[in-house]
Amino acid sequence: MTLTSIYEVSLFKEKGYTRKKCISCGRNFWTLNPDANYCGDQPCVTYTFIDEPPTSIKLNIDNAREKFLSFFERNNHVRIGKYPVVARWRDDVYLVGASIYDFQPWVTDGVIPPPSNPLTISQPCIRFTDIDLVGKSGRHLTEFEMMAHHAFNYPDKKIYWNDETVEYCFRFFTEEVKVQPEKINFIEDMWSGGGNAGEDFEVVIGGIEVATLVFMHYKQAEDKLIPLKIQTVDTGYGLERIVWLTNQTPTVYDAIFPSFLRKFYNLAGIKPPEKKIFAEISKLAGSFSLKGKSSLKEFRLNVSRKLGLSVEELEKIILPVETAYAIADFSRTLVFMLGDGVVPSNMGAGYLARLLIRKILRNMHYLGLNYPITELVDFQIKEVSRSFPEYLEKSEVILDMVDVEERRFKETMQKGRTIIKRLIEEEKGKISTKSLLMLYDSHGLTPDYVSQVAEEFGVNVEIPEDFYTQIVQMHEKSQKPKVIKDEVTLRFEGEVEGLPPTKLLYYEDAYLKEFKAEVLKVFKEGYVVLNQTCFYAEGGGQPPDIGILKWNNGEAKVIDVQKVKNVILHKVEGELPNVGCHVVGVIDWERRKSLMRSHTATHILIGAARKVLGDHVWQSGALKGVERSRLDISHYLRLTDEQVKEIEKLSNDIVAKNVPVKTFWLPREVAEGKYGFRLYQGGVVPGREIRIVEVENWDVEACGGTHCKFTGEIGLIKIVKTERIQDGVERIHFTVGPQAVEYVQQVDSRFKSLSRILGCSTDDIEKSIEGLIDEIKGLRKNVEKLRENIARQLAETLSATIKEFKGIQLLKYASKLVDVEVAIKTLAELTKAKPNLVSVFIVLGEKNVRVIVMVGKEALKLGLHAGKIALKISKLAGGSGGGKQDFGQGGSQHPEKALEALENVENILCEELGGFKK
Ligand SMILES: [Zn+2]
Ligand SMILES: [Zn+2]
Repeated sequence: MTLTSIYEVSLFKEKGYTRKKCISCGRNFWTLNPDANYCGDQPCVTYTFIDEPPTSIKLNIDNAREKFLSFFERNNHVRIGKYPVVARWRDDVYLVGASIYDFQPWVTDGVIPPPSNPLTISQPCIRFTDIDLVGKSGRHLTEFEMMAHHAFNYPDKKIYWNDETVEYCFRFFTEEVKVQPEKINFIEDMWSGGGNAGEDFEVVIGGIEVATLVFMHYKQAEDKLIPLKIQTVDTGYGLERIVWLTNQTPTVYDAIFPSFLRKFYNLAGIKPPEKKIFAEISKLAGSFSLKGKSSLKEFRLNVSRKLGLSVEELEKIILPVETAYAIADFSRTLVFMLGDGVVPSNMGAGYLARLLIRKILRNMHYLGLNYPITELVDFQIKEVSRSFPEYLEKSEVILDMVDVEERRFKETMQKGRTIIKRLIEEEKGKISTKSLLMLYDSHGLTPDYVSQVAEEFGVNVEIPEDFYTQIVQMHEKSQKPKVIKDEVTLRFEGEVEGLPPTKLLYYEDAYLKEFKAEVLKVFKEGYVVLNQTCFYAEGGGQPPDIGILKWNNGEAKVIDVQKVKNVILHKVEGELPNVGCHVVGVIDWERRKSLMRSHTATHILIGAARKVLGDHVWQSGALKGVERSRLDISHYLRLTDEQVKEIEKLSNDIVAKNVPVKTFWLPREVAEGKYGFRLYQGGVVPGREIRIVEVENWDVEACGGTHCKFTGEIGLIKIVKTERIQDGVERIHFTVGPQAVEYVQQVDSRFKSLSRILGCSTDDIEKSIEGLIDEIKGLRKNVEKLRENIARQLAETLSATIKEFKGIQLLKYASKLVDVEVAIKTLAELTKAKPNLVSVFIVLGEKNVRVIVMVGKEALKLGLHAGKIALKISKLAGGSGGGKQDFGQGGSQHPEKALEALENVENILCEELGGFKK
């Protein structure tokens, strides 16, 4: 098949289409109008559909989707339900960006068959690439539905290819959407993405691209195209755009969010958009993208010229409406993201969900609206639920997450003021774009908020038009972390080539403790390969088994077990067996049994956490150990003591019920169909057949570990503590079986020893401690009273030693008998009565001295400073000090110098008073 022939489909011949070359972009296109010069796409032409409807029917989101799916159903396609927007089945991306993502990599790589062939689907997709244009361009959205018909052609089974694809497309638009045939152009193009490529048609109607028909049949390798075994028809029809096409509204937002916007305009007191103005924006924005620094400014200038308005007049009209458009889109996107299990956080998809919430909040602030955004999201839940009722069930958790985020953002902004202020000082009166990006990325402060705060300090901040696009790009690079090959794999992956896969006896019987095997290969680094083994290789958060290998005249310890490709490597310590030698392997059963218990407990705990906290809970990590294990779960709040108790209680109920834990293998697509993507708690597992572990009526996961046969074998499950290890992730530390009993015993014996110390029974510990605390409080009060009494008496005594000195009254005193508190009280008492008093009190300790200086109100007028005097005295005593004008303190480690310092007080005062020494 040559490059041109794939474009020459039978429909074009049949209907009399002509192939033309666009005089603007140079691309070839197929049209029913032999005089056409332009391809019909942006920027070669502008939208005509807004003024000249290409069809007489009007569709809304729900009936447009239904028309599409039922048309393809009638034409032998099987309708497939939508996938979640969170791509749990993929290890490379977080969110679904196109309908084909649903079938990558397993179907497109040929690992599993598609759920049906051909099939039709309408898949909600999330894209943040043009987030800064949402609301402003008339057409960009962060969430949209890609409707598609897919056919997967295998060498031995062809479904359909270019002829049928184009014909289906033509028939859908003409028969179902009633578009006049002469309005439909097919532009030839080349598509590539995700390492694949192929020719495609861009389908344009009335100036807007409404569908892309891709014939994916190449693999891209450097600059070569290699034919693929599986040829995929990958189509994408923009549901929202088709709705827009039939409604002649000025923007896509007016077409798809009519009720939301009506309600919102009312709420915000916004004048509904004038068609003339916004249609002009949409038309001119058809080819607009945020490229240069001030492209949006230029764009607005163009629009205003066209409309005969000043830019200021234009912005006054359009900015509130554009903000409303953006809020409508962002709040709907949140329904899909949070409803499908994204928990707002500072990582991955959670980062993007948080970004949407913060953008909505700031947009509301811009409009001067103090209205809970949960109500906006709630409205969108109801809208979305008309077609996808599952989101209604999740509304409580979705709204709770939004509410929590709203409160968090307020705290963030409060804390942010100091950060912004400091930054302005550091950057000498400005804030650079780099800092602006950092303020969002590291501190969650939106640029408009930064600008608002900066303005209070008289600093003008320039916000890049593509600010959030830059933020998203920074995070797109950090896709799901690539699986890093461990050292053993890197060292041996070439070496194990050609060895047969090791037979895994623990999958046949997890209770096998001893086995016979033949040595197939020995590596000088101490690794032994056997034909079969029941040593579990480290994986899925379960540590490896250890044990021994024995043979005729030898024995070695197995200290580590690793899997490289399908071969198990036993790391041994001691002598090495020879190749061909028969060995007996014995695993450390006590250790393995513990690991099986804690591993099985992990499955039970995740099931319990989901029941207690909600369906948004996913495992985000686990480590099974002998003594202690841990399970990390996604959750948007700290776990409360009550929730932890409930999780623990439910888990132990399942243990007590002694339910069977079944393990079995299922084809991937069968397992996914039966249990959903919930299976991939521990991440995506490879292969056509996947191993399912089911705790009956409780939890089902794809898992390759070793488990108990019945939950009763686990024994006690005890949660030891929980902690927040990162934003949106809670770590549950737990212990099981005999180790859990030991833990409880330890806690109990601590409790008993406490009761011995307190001299009460264990039942009375709380009462006894409360009693002690009360007693301490009472004693403190008494001490306080005593100090006051002493201070009063001391003041009386000392008042007699006060002498006149250079126009002030002076008191100096040193004592070993009172503490600092008493000294301060004494001086305070005297100073209150004698405003002309300067007093110095040195408290002598065993190894240190404390200096206290007070200057009365009248004495202050002479320019004396208690802090300075305290410093000078303390220096003479070999230490240091300081303080305020009326009260200074100091001290040193040299009691022997204290009296000499006291001798010099008059000299110091003379200096301070500017006079002569005495
Ligand atoms: Zn063109
Ligand atoms: Zn497991």
